[in-house]
Amino acid sequence: MNKFSTSAITLKSYDLSESDKIVVLYSKEHGLMRAVAKGAKKTSKRAAGIDNLLAKRFLLMKGKNLDTICQSEGINHFSGIRNDIFKLSYSIYCSELINIFGIEEDPTSEDMYNLLYFTFENISKAKNPCNTILSVLKFQMNLMDTAGYAIELDDCVKCGHSFESQEMYFSTRSGGILCRECSVFDEDKKLISDKIRLFLKKVASSDFNSSFFYDKELKNEATLMFCLNLIKEYISLKSPKRIKSTHMLECI
Ligand SMILES: [Zn+2]
Repeated sequence: MNKFSTSAITLKSYDLSESDKIVVLYSKEHGLMRAVAKGAKKTSKRAAGIDNLLAKRFLLMKGKNLDTICQSEGINHFSGIRNDIFKLSYSIYCSELINIFGIEEDPTSEDMYNLLYFTFENISKAKNPCNTILSVLKFQMNLMDTAGYAIELDDCVKCGHSFESQEMYFSTRSGGILCRECSVFDEDKKLISDKIRLFLKKVASSDFNSSFFYDKELKNEATLMFCLNLIKEYISLKSPKRIKSTHMLECI
C-alpha cells in the first residue's frame, strides 16, 4: 500500500464510470493532479470530498495511472464564495487558469497553491465588488509572473524607453507598456495613465495582507475592472486553450 497525503484545492470533477468521478486538484506538493473519487456519484458529494473550490488535506493511494482518494479533511471551505454569483464566477475563472497554467509535479507548486488559496480566502471575505476584483487582479498578475509571462511595467517593452508621465499604452500582444512611437502599429493598444501603470506595479509586487491603495482615485469599480480586463485579455493570448469561464464573466 503506497499512500501519501497532500494539501490541495479541488478545481473540477467529471464522471469516470457509473459510480466514480475524476477530481482535478492543485496540490501544494505536487502541482496539478487528477485522482479517482470512488463511489463519489453514489455517496453524498461532500462526504466523498469532490465539491469544487475547497482546500482539503487528502490521503491518496498511488495508482498505476491515476491515484485514488482514500480520505479528505477540510482545510478551508471558502464559504463566502458560494452564495454570491459574482464571487463564484471569478473564483471559477481563477481555478480554470490554475488548471491551464499549472503543471504536474510543478516546481512552483507551493507558490501556485498559496496564490490560489489566498485569492479564494480574500474573495470569500471581500465586503464589496472592488475587493473581489482587486483579489482577482492580484491573482492574474502573480499567476503570469509565476508561469513565466511577467508583464513589463517599468520601461517600453519594445524600445526600453523609460516612463515618467508621458503618453503610454498597454499592449496585450506585447505583454507590457509601449511608448507612443512603438505603439503606432499595435491596433489593440489601450491608452493608460501613469497612475494606472504605477498601480498595476503595486498590485503585482504587494502581498494579500498589504494595503496598496495609495491613490483613492483608483479605488472604484470601473477603474479596477478596466485593469482586470486588460490583464484578462493578455492571459487569453498567452493561454494554450480557450478559457471557457471568460464568457460567463461577461454575462454577470
Ligand atoms: Zn518604445
